[in-house]
Amino acid sequence: MPISGRKVPPRAIEKEQATVASSISGREVELPAMWNRMFEPRVLTEHGPDGFAKLAELPGAESLEWCYGCGKCVPVCPVDVVGEYGPRKLHRKVQTGFDLLSDPDLWLCTSCGNCLRVCPKEVDMIQIMPAAREAALTEGNVPGELQEVFEKTFRYGNALGENPRRRAQWTRDAGVPVRILPKEPGPVDVLFYVEDYWSYHPRGQEAARAFARVAHALDIDWAILGHEEKTLGDSQRLAGEKGLFDALVEDVTATLAKYEFNRIVTPDPHGFNALVKEYPKRGHEFDALHYTQLLAPLVDRITWAKELPYTVTFHDPCYLGRHNGEYDAPRTLINAIPGIELREMGRCRQNGYCCGGGGGGMWLDGFTRDYTSERLSERRVREAAETGADMLVVCCPYEVSRFEDAAKSTGNAHLKVRDIIELIDEAMEHGR
Ligand code: SF4
Ligand code: SF4
Repeated sequence: MPISGRKVPPRAIEKEQATVASSISGREVELPAMWNRMFEPRVLTEHGPDGFAKLAELPGAESLEWCYGCGKCVPVCPVDVVGEYGPRKLHRKVQTGFDLLSDPDLWLCTSCGNCLRVCPKEVDMIQIMPAAREAALTEGNVPGELQEVFEKTFRYGNALGENPRRRAQWTRDAGVPVRILPKEPGPVDVLFYVEDYWSYHPRGQEAARAFARVAHALDIDWAILGHEEKTLGDSQRLAGEKGLFDALVEDVTATLAKYEFNRIVTPDPHGFNALVKEYPKRGHEFDALHYTQLLAPLVDRITWAKELPYTVTFHDPCYLGRHNGEYDAPRTLINAIPGIELREMGRCRQNGYCCGGGGGGMWLDGFTRDYTSERLSERRVREAAETGADMLVVCCPYEVSRFEDAAKSTGNAHLKVRDIIELIDEAMEHGR
């Protein structure tokens, strides 16, 4: 049910009328809901048990039943800020007969993890949602735009449906040589896993080129897979396509097995999450780092060429921060750049707001629009503008284009959006 920006109570499945027999006259009287509970207390068995029965049989979804309704998860849920959401509300809906597997609510969770952080019962939406979505997929219940992304990923190995042969095209304008392993095999220290948005999206490509110049200047021994790279697939997994994810794991690890490297470094916190949490569950262990973790310890080796007179605020990516506990590496880099003033937003670090792109949300903007008052990225851009910063700094490939769009749609076009690596590159006088 679209809420058009107004919060509305969930549709209750309960008796609205009761027929009560008078103990004196014996006459039957019809009573509306506000009175009938006094005479005939409502019990949960009045609601269909199907909702929970369906979820209970899904491995991973059991913890929704552990909810005892304390409500701590609701105010921290980024979707509730722009709509009606949170595990407690979902629990209540399922409890009162809703079939989550065919409900639009199934697709609104961004798997940001903020509810799990505060939940005393460890109700785990990061397990519940992929399990429930996978079951919905088998029933054919999946938003069209998401289905399209699954198909593109299956066919081309990337969510954008781009030709794999164009994977390394961004390197041509990097201004420094970039080693592509299939062309120049041999041992390398850092295998840089570029992932989809830095490989193909024009704004991502700018950041990829900036990384290349910075890595070159720091004399890092690094290389990429070029056309042999496929997405690591974590967002597809969280969106319910476990089968596709498992197939990607097989393909990716078969490719990686061909090369000799010490570490995998990626700019994508979702890919990073897959490498440190999901690939090991399937028997593939890697020394994986986000690019900010590679560069933060090297910051003293950077030769700065100029000061950047920017007041910036920083958005913690959910899958770098909350999911993997890294809050300091990006801030170490930002604070090291001469001239930069960092102003934190109210919601930051552990309680950072979500850009809306996680858990498949990256591809569901059109869908979620009908169920929220504004996009999560728009809400976040407003928070960023309130700090008085002239720039919103990020370190996740999903975020630059999301926030740039949101800055325009919310009337905050003055707020520039840049990846940290672009600022480092500029302060080393390579960039714009
Ligand atoms: S914090 Fe946990 S137990 Fe409390 S209402 Fe939310 S899901 Fe239920
Ligand atoms: S994971 Fe995030 S978006 Fe999903 S219910 Fe929890 S707080 Fe809300």
